[in-house]
Amino acid sequence: MIMRKIFGLARACALLTINLFVFSSVFKAEWAIGITAIIAIIAYLGEYASLAKDRAIPVRDLDIYYKSKLESAYQLLCEQGNSAGIDLEYLRLYMVPDERINAYSYGRSHIGVTRGLLALDEASISGVLAHESGHCIIGDAFIKRILFCDITIIILGLSIMGFLSTGFLWIVFALLCFFGIGGGFLSFFITGFLSRMIRWVFTGFQHIFLFIYQITVGMISRNMEYSADHFAAKMNFGNELAFFLSRFSLEDGAPKTLRDIMYASHPTSNKRIKKIEEYCYTTLSREVD
Ligand SMILES: [Zn+2]
Repeated sequence: MIMRKIFGLARACALLTINLFVFSSVFKAEWAIGITAIIAIIAYLGEYASLAKDRAIPVRDLDIYYKSKLESAYQLLCEQGNSAGIDLEYLRLYMVPDERINAYSYGRSHIGVTRGLLALDEASISGVLAHESGHCIIGDAFIKRILFCDITIIILGLSIMGFLSTGFLWIVFALLCFFGIGGGFLSFFITGFLSRMIRWVFTGFQHIFLFIYQITVGMISRNMEYSADHFAAKMNFGNELAFFLSRFSLEDGAPKTLRDIMYASHPTSNKRIKKIEEYCYTTLSREVD
């Protein structure tokens, strides 16, 4: 648990340092520090913004049925945690008013489960809670938000650069016309063509960066899922989670094309179940030895 927390913190710091390094190669040092600080703040506060956006209801405000269900599943998780020497009592639970079956780790300490999930049995709910607590401890949402900020800055930066470049081209064209050089239909046509080319180049770069972002985040995200499953299995919720995954897939249909597979944020349930079983089996056989 402590190792997972430290690793999560170190990973976030490393990513922010890379950000600072890259920004300082483009901007002045003060700007680079400012932008990195803003990204860190957004990544941190995003936890609360997402809770508000999902209209998540804190467990204490729930009606007695959902409240008792969520609380007893959480209690089960905390008890298992205590016996494994892991303190999970700092987690804050919420219900998201959504009939679909899903759960979210919002950041460091907030977990939301949908109303749809709360209709299931207690064991399934605690299995999912164990998985989400695995995300919370290591701060996966924090990393995803930093990467999202990065791609937003890149896309925005490219848009601004494209806009400024074409603007500059047209200003040059207007000045040339003003001084009586060019100004005919041909020069208008050429300037129009060049400005379109510039826009294409910048839009092309945007697509390339977006493509790289989606592939990278897809890969990171799938690893995060395995790691959270592993954590749940370590907490002795492997069976519950595997059983839950076998009955309720959290994906909107299995990926079909290579593109789907590359971009998918979650591995397929079958793969996840296999890994959980592998883990449970190897620890079990080790314990028997
Ligand atoms: Zn997950």
